[in-house]
Amino acid sequence: MVTSIHRPTKAIINLSAIAQNIKNVLQQLPKGTNLFAVVKADGYGHGAVAVANAAIKGGATGFCVATIDEGIELRESGITQPILILGVVDIAYLHLLSEYDLSFPVATLAWLEKAALVLQAEQLPHPLKVHLKVDTGMGRIGFLNSEAVNQAVHLMEAIPQMQWEGIFTHFATADQADKDYYEIQKKRFLTVLEQLPYQPLFVHDSNSATALWHEPIGNLVRYGIALYGLNPSGKALVEPYELTAALELVSELVQVKQVPKGYGIGYGETYITSKSEWIGTVPIGYADGWLRKLQGFNVLVNGKFCEIVGRVCMDQIMIRLPYEMSVGTKVTLIGKNGNNEITLQQVAEKLETIHYEVACGISPRVPREYI
Ligand code: PLP
Repeated sequence: MVTSIHRPTKAIINLSAIAQNIKNVLQQLPKGTNLFAVVKADGYGHGAVAVANAAIKGGATGFCVATIDEGIELRESGITQPILILGVVDIAYLHLLSEYDLSFPVATLAWLEKAALVLQAEQLPHPLKVHLKVDTGMGRIGFLNSEAVNQAVHLMEAIPQMQWEGIFTHFATADQADKDYYEIQKKRFLTVLEQLPYQPLFVHDSNSATALWHEPIGNLVRYGIALYGLNPSGKALVEPYELTAALELVSELVQVKQVPKGYGIGYGETYITSKSEWIGTVPIGYADGWLRKLQGFNVLVNGKFCEIVGRVCMDQIMIRLPYEMSVGTKVTLIGKNGNNEITLQQVAEKLETIHYEVACGISPRVPREYI
């Protein structure tokens, strides 16, 4: 999809907010803790490379991505810090992982056994840096017990091209008020750590929620959503210190017209004016990630909430204006405008989802502008 730069719709990303959000959490963590900025999914829709560089300014010492390609994008942009892939990697790509010096998780003994066979005949430019993943209750990827983890350590020792760099787990409920399940997972991880023959360079269990509301185990946090200034819990838990949202989504009025009473707006004639009304058209639609379920939600123009009336189209929405406004007037879909604000969390609530999904869903058609 081509990025549409010749239209007023854009996401504005505040890179100093990102750096500051990282500085703030580092101040709360024990000195020397590594912060790996999680910039998967194009930096949660904010732009991975720009976010990564801002994160370095804030004190990030490494990065997490979801896929090999996301890691390569960072390397090719000049990032030299450690990069950890979080998802399972295919054994077919061992050479690529080595070439780009990308660390990756190993989650099964079968994977290691296969890798050992493949590597018998492979010369690699860099050692393969492995983080063993422990499934303590997320049920996604990882070893289920100490026995399997220690067998993995043993297998790795026999593979000269492999370096055991880390061990980690991931919590399922660190963003919830009820801590019982978190404690169960934590205990399971501690048991695995106690039974290791020795520890690798990095031990980590923290996403943003763990870093904000719990005591991280180990020496590294994988800090994602909160670096973008978003509360990992939505609004279930109060953030212990201010998080500054980095993303604004803006556009402009491209047409303004007064239509008579009883006039249909949009596909399906789902909105009919109840009196003569001023209707503004804004060039953003579901192909930009501004989904059809946002009909009835608001945007901000001249500091005033204006309802999205009629169906959201693929590329345009119509809004009801309180009075005549000029073509070219700024429209804020996410962010502050005048004395009012629309947050990603509010958009997520309207869409019955989480802000993570909304941010990731702003499509590549929308240009990202960095300030
Ligand atoms: N660690 C792992 C394994 C993840 O999958 C994620 C995100 O999905 C993160 C860390 C970052 O989580 P958050 O964005 O909630 O900080």
